[in-house]
Amino acid sequence: MGGMGGMGRTGGMGRMGRMGRMEKDERSRIGLCADCLHARTIESSRGSVFYLCLRAEHDPAYKKYPALPVRSCAGYEPKGSGV
Ligand code: SF4
Repeated sequence: MGGMGGMGRTGGMGRMGRMGRMEKDERSRIGLCADCLHARTIESSRGSVFYLCLRAEHDPAYKKYPALPVRSCAGYEPKGSGV
């Protein structure tokens, strides 16, 4: 007779470090879009991240996929500015 012991302990691998450094890196690589209210990030199946400008949906003056890094943008609004 076999036992039915299903007592497997899964080791936790969910250690996510702090993101501070990476965010700074993003900011210099991406430019303003990195923390713009109107930016959305899209991750491709290969793991690269694209920045999509939501302003472009309503305003042809903006590019849907802006060339990065964006150094200056009239439509830039920092996230969490709560204007
Ligand atoms: S408005 Fe400008 S800064 Fe904001 S996501 Fe679009 S292109 Fe980037």
